[in-house]
Amino acid sequence: MIHVKDLHKSFGTTEVLKGLTTEIKEKEVVCVIGPSGSGKSTFLRCLNLLEDITSGQVIMDGRDLTDPKTNINDVRTDVGMVFQHFNLFPHKTVLENITLAPIKVKGLSNQEAKDVAIPLLDKVGLSDKADVYPSSLSGGQKQRVAIARALAMNPKVMLFDEPTSALDPELVGEVLEVMKDLAKEGMTMVVVTHEMGFAREVGDRVFFIDEGIFMEEDTPENIFHNPQNPRTQEFLSKIL
Ligand code: ADP
Ligand code: MG
Repeated sequence: MIHVKDLHKSFGTTEVLKGLTTEIKEKEVVCVIGPSGSGKSTFLRCLNLLEDITSGQVIMDGRDLTDPKTNINDVRTDVGMVFQHFNLFPHKTVLENITLAPIKVKGLSNQEAKDVAIPLLDKVGLSDKADVYPSSLSGGQKQRVAIARALAMNPKVMLFDEPTSALDPELVGEVLEVMKDLAKEGMTMVVVTHEMGFAREVGDRVFFIDEGIFMEEDTPENIFHNPQNPRTQEFLSKIL
């Protein structure tokens, strides 16, 4: 589904991604772990072209993101993204947050967009919140709305950038549950996370990134119980 070939990303003279190469298969759940500043967010942002790529290639479902002929908006429609800070539109209701992009980008009618949104709200356990504003929701509920909003575009891939890092601990579980269900349904997912329990249980593979390089990629079992790279060992010893 996703081919990354020698991906480099610099900001000015600072090289942040130093040649990432990997493949992510359809229906695979990949968790990306690594220290702060190692390039995790930048990597995700290169996968949906929120950042332009300095060199190398990203091929998403057969489309080369670095090819100027590729329609970037089509690619973005196929790639859903969920951020740490939810980024909901505060002056729109929950339902409007979810229907906005399907109406504006996909040209659905209000009713069609609603027909897409309602089952998604149900899926994330928020059927009763369609008409409220984000400010009345808990962080966990906001993040579940953000997930429903991303799913409303019917993406082929979902990217999550530390989706539970801004949440009070008691709200983390409800968001991880929704993500777990998505994984079970076969969504292709790339998840930057500090939730090692989730990575272990749900991840098919774990990538450890440090200083803009994939130092190690392996099954959760091997990464957590038998890490080969000294940097992985050191990182895990600090957080586990
Ligand atoms: P992580 O998500 O792993 O914490 P990031 O991908 O956010 O790391 O950042 C990696 C490095 O790139 C950091 O040193 C950060 O300061 C730098 N960086 C990220 N975005 C920008 C930007 N827009 N301009 C300049 N430097 C940036
Ligand atoms: Mg980050």
